[in-house]
Amino acid sequence: MFGRNFIICSCVFVLSGCTYNDEPVPEIVRGNISSRPRLIQPRVINPKPSPKSVYGNVPKDWLPPSRVEKKWTAIVIHHSGTGNGNAAIFDKWHREGNHWDGVGYDFVIGNGTDSGDGQVEVTFRWRKQVPGAHCGGTPGNWANEDGVGICLVGNFNNTEPTSRQMQSLLKLVRFLQSRYNIPSSRVYGHNTTPGGRKTDCPGRKFLMTRFKSMLGS
Ligand SMILES: [Zn+2]
Repeated sequence: MFGRNFIICSCVFVLSGCTYNDEPVPEIVRGNISSRPRLIQPRVINPKPSPKSVYGNVPKDWLPPSRVEKKWTAIVIHHSGTGNGNAAIFDKWHREGNHWDGVGYDFVIGNGTDSGDGQVEVTFRWRKQVPGAHCGGTPGNWANEDGVGICLVGNFNNTEPTSRQMQSLLKLVRFLQSRYNIPSSRVYGHNTTPGGRKTDCPGRKFLMTRFKSMLGS
């Protein structure tokens, strides 16, 4: 019963939005595949993230443990390519469908279906500050190693993000930009990430130009 549903949902998930089948296997899994070249870049620990006074109050779980916090240099925005979902659902799909060690993103922003409209969920990748599995094909796997992966639930080829999703995205991206000194020129949609594979993610109705204008320089 669940298995059948799961397969159907996974197919939709793979065929729309992110090119999940093409995404790199996270490091923890890839370590078992000796024939593949390792493209992991050195981890860079940021000794002095920007203080809280720069970006104001944010939820506590947006701040990673200081002992593992690393220097992030880019932000990559995705849509889920599905009408519904949340971090737990994507985690299950990515574990069981792709055999990854869990959901590929750092953050998931809900659309009111399986989590709150505009609710920001923090995944284990962010809490542990480990590389993502959301934007494959970039040289040296840089986008997964150094880019923060944010997924908005929805298929933005069909519908626009909700206003609450965009408000949350704006707050989250501004926080990340401030804390890690990431310029707006390093905030990408999946489909415009330098070196990334061809994809329509985050969808035709995600208006990146408008979002970038909201961010400012
Ligand atoms: Zn994507």
